[in-house]
Amino acid sequence: MNLKRILLCGAEIFGLNCFSRFRTRRRLLGLCYHSVVSDNSPQNDARTRLAVTVTQFNKQLKELRKHWNPVSLTQIRNAVEKNIPLPDYAVHVSFDDGYRNNLTLAAPLLSRYEIPATIFITTNFMATQGQLIWALEIHERLVCFPDSEIEIGGVLYSLPPPETLSRTERSLELLQQIKHLPTEEHKKMLQFLRNRTEIDLTPFWKRELYEFLNWDELRLLREQGMEIGVHTLSHPVLSNLDQTELNEELLASKKCLERELGTECDVLAYPFGSMYDFSDQVIETARRLGFRLAFTLQDCRNATKLDAMRIHRICIHREHSLNSFRALISGLRNVSLLTS
Ligand SMILES: [Zn+2]
Repeated sequence: MNLKRILLCGAEIFGLNCFSRFRTRRRLLGLCYHSVVSDNSPQNDARTRLAVTVTQFNKQLKELRKHWNPVSLTQIRNAVEKNIPLPDYAVHVSFDDGYRNNLTLAAPLLSRYEIPATIFITTNFMATQGQLIWALEIHERLVCFPDSEIEIGGVLYSLPPPETLSRTERSLELLQQIKHLPTEEHKKMLQFLRNRTEIDLTPFWKRELYEFLNWDELRLLREQGMEIGVHTLSHPVLSNLDQTELNEELLASKKCLERELGTECDVLAYPFGSMYDFSDQVIETARRLGFRLAFTLQDCRNATKLDAMRIHRICIHREHSLNSFRALISGLRNVSLLTS
């Protein structure tokens, strides 16, 4: 057993997680998931990094049910707007992007543990076949790009051989470089890669990982109690957009969801969600267009008093063992840093 695992195990056994949970019990914990996939999907492939397996998800929900108080979006809204306090140890579970596996694999477990959840929908991808969010498409195409180097933003980067695990890792690192370029550069890079690569999305694990819900499936999730929010039209980096594009991404996706669901949708999750991915201008625009709550992905706990347009969430990755998940969500930063 290596030092990291010993420390994480010790944090649970010696009550450090318990103490840390108690210390932060009045501060809402937001969790953000993306895909929940079968246990036999590839383990070390960086493309599944944002997914958790059914077994992991089951253990994590059991932990939340045992030591936390899962709360709904409505309870968060009531806390913000009506000052109705959340219970101690409040945790909110949410899913970004709108994958079908949220219905087929996540929802049955949520219902088994009676844990409420919210799903944020990228409306342009609903009911599509074989389409990927641009960042994931760039990742997929980088994995099979045939050359041994690639130019990004004027810099030449070397690449391990295509279709290897090291290429999937390297591609994920390069995606972070690409993401920080202007939106036009994302589009150029995607076009360049589309001209040079063919991707195969037919393997079962990829379909499970990437396929989006259709509208009937989303309505079914709502009937099962899932609350629904907006995650823009096309998943851009909102802070990169001009005012016209920003209005379009926020308003058209809001209207689209409201038309399909027949109810008001005034909750937003910023795509990518780090402090660089949205701005005061984004928040101001969202407020003006009728959004009342908005969720980040800043990997931190909330203050005791919630900020309506910056409700923070922690992103849950596949590499979290149960003990690292416990340390991470309990707020043991020094121990949880060892997990990344
Ligand atoms: Zn997203």
